[in-house]
Amino acid sequence: MWKIIRPDAIEVLYDVKARASLSHYFSVMENKRPAKFIVSKAIEVEKIEELGLEDLWRVHEEKMKEFKEVEGTLSLTKLKERSPNLLNLKVEIAKKLMESCVLCEHRCKVNRMAGQRGVCKAGKELVVSSMFDHYGEEAELVPSFTVFTLGCSFKCLHCQNYSISQWLEKGEEMSSEEVAKNVDQARRNGSRNLNCVGGNPDQYLYSWLRVFLKLRENIPIVWNSNAYYSYEQMLLLDGVIDLYLLDFKYGNDKCAYEISGIKNYTNTVKRNHVMAKKSGDLLIRILVLPGHLYCCLKTIVEWISKNLGENTRVNLMWQYYPAWKAFEREELRRRLTQEEMRESLRIAKEAGLKNIIT
Ligand code: SF4
Repeated sequence: MWKIIRPDAIEVLYDVKARASLSHYFSVMENKRPAKFIVSKAIEVEKIEELGLEDLWRVHEEKMKEFKEVEGTLSLTKLKERSPNLLNLKVEIAKKLMESCVLCEHRCKVNRMAGQRGVCKAGKELVVSSMFDHYGEEAELVPSFTVFTLGCSFKCLHCQNYSISQWLEKGEEMSSEEVAKNVDQARRNGSRNLNCVGGNPDQYLYSWLRVFLKLRENIPIVWNSNAYYSYEQMLLLDGVIDLYLLDFKYGNDKCAYEISGIKNYTNTVKRNHVMAKKSGDLLIRILVLPGHLYCCLKTIVEWISKNLGENTRVNLMWQYYPAWKAFEREELRRRLTQEEMRESLRIAKEAGLKNIIT
């Protein structure tokens, strides 16, 4: 049925540009290669229970070198899960990072394992709003088994998902076993990937890593994030995430602070985009905001073209509509004009980008 609703999801399988920039993702999706989390589970580590954070990081660095050496040489059928393994080690580190939370660049340093909450208001475990096969994502992702979790590190005035990101919904706390069971079933039914989103997935890294531990099927993991996660989190995502689906929202810190309440935005997301490209496949989403074509969009696409390459796959999104508190800013009270859509595409092409989705 979905093939009729989204014929472009079939056409994209023959799209040379899409396949070139997302080659790892396509290989896992077609079961020609193992997902990264499966490779991590095949890398044995020594006992880790007694180690402090510093020693855990030291072992992680060593084992990630091993990961990089063997990844690409191992076929799906030859991989055997070890215990404890690199993924167990990542879980242990994520748990410690939550005891003085630095999972994102707010660096709240609250003890979430003891029930304290920071800016994102997330607790220890996943709180799920809904999970289902999503047919509205980029063609290469559809059908995408998408898990929407509550909470976000951002407070975007125009948030299109504000009932989820700002905890207006109650949600349902779910165990990693339960989520993994749903994901495995979805994969057997034909989902192309697991899409971790919200709100934002970053604050639930500890839970997500445990979901990946429980998964039995080979499925590409898509990290659908606002890209404001910490350097420490990036190190843990490496070796686990197959496709980074990252937002690039603002071209300068002033707009980021005024609209989303975020400090040090551009340095953080630039660092994370560069690291994501080295770690896995990368697909960038830019939600074009009315009145922000030159202060934001132009700067973003020029930076991408120069630093990530002209063939970086970029989704130029035109579906902005005023939601939540968008009325607080004059320019955000309307949708894009036809002229702004045309102009945004012209700007992106002029910056040199050659792999644009609209
Ligand atoms: S995830 Fe970020 S916003 Fe949430 S508590 Fe941790 S540091 Fe704060």
